Amino acid sequence: MQNIDQQELDKFEKMAKSWWDPQGDFKPIHQLNPLRLSYITQQANGLMGKKVLDVGCGGGILSESMAKHGASVTGIDMSSAPLQVAKNHALENGLRIDYQQITIEDFLQNQTALYAEKGDSEKFDVITCMEMLEHVPDPSSIIASCKQLLKPNGTIFFSTINRTLKAWALVVLGAEYVLKMLPKGTHDYDKFIKPAELLNWCDDAELTCLDMAGYHYNPLTGKFWLNNDVSANYMASFRILP
Ligand code: SAH
Repeated sequence: MQNIDQQELDKFEKMAKSWWDPQGDFKPIHQLNPLRLSYITQQANGLMGKKVLDVGCGGGILSESMAKHGASVTGIDMSSAPLQVAKNHALENGLRIDYQQITIEDFLQNQTALYAEKGDSEKFDVITCMEMLEHVPDPSSIIASCKQLLKPNGTIFFSTINRTLKAWALVVLGAEYVLKMLPKGTHDYDKFIKPAELLNWCDDAELTCLDMAGYHYNPLTGKFWLNNDVSANYMASFRILP
C-alpha cells in the first residue's frame, strides 16, 4: 500500500489550475514563499549549486524559487494536474527542474542502487517538505525516507500545522470559512501535527532539530512573519545526528 490519501490528492487536483494565480487559492503560499525561501537559504547556508529535493512540490512555487537561487531541484508529488502545471510553468520560465510523479518511498527505492554504488555524494544537500505532512496517512514514513535521501551534512525542512484550537480557528474557520482564502475542506484538523510529534518522528529517523519557528499571517496586509510561537503554522530545520 502506498502512503497516499487519494481524497487529499483530489483536493489538490481540483486546485491545480489556479496554482500560479497570485490572487487564487494559493495566494497565502505565494505571500509566504519569500519568507520560507529566506529561512531555507539561511539555515542551509545558501542554495547555490546545491542538490535539492522538494517533496510534495505541488505546482512548484517553492521549487522554482530555489532553482532561481542556483539550486539543482528535483520536485516530486503524487497529484498529476499540479505537477503538469509545475512542468509547464518551469518551461515557460526557462527553468530546468526535474519533476516526477512518485512517492518519496518509491523514489528512495529507485535511488538505493545508485547510493550503494556511488555513495552519499549522490544524495541531496537540502530536502524540503512543506505543507504536506498533514495530508498523508503516515508522516513518519515520509520523514524516515527523507532522511535516507539526505547527505550526512545536509539539511531537511518540514512545515506543517499544529493541532491546537488556535490553528483550527485560524486555518480552518478563518482561512476556509470566514475569509474564504482556501476551499472549504482543504484541511483536516485531526491530521494536524503537534511539534512534539514531529520531533519524535524525526528523533526516530535520527534527525536532530536545528531550529523551529512559527509563522504568522496578517490577511489584511498579506504579510507573514516568524517568531517562536509555534501554536499554529510552523516550520523547522533538521540535520542528521552526528
Ligand atoms: N509543498 C508545496 C505544496 C503544498 S500542497 C508548497 O508548499 O508550495 C500539498 C502537496 O502535497 C500537494 O501538491 C499534494 O498533491 C502533495 N501530496 C499529498 N500527499 C502526497 C504524497 N503522499 N506524496 C507526494 N505528494 C503528496
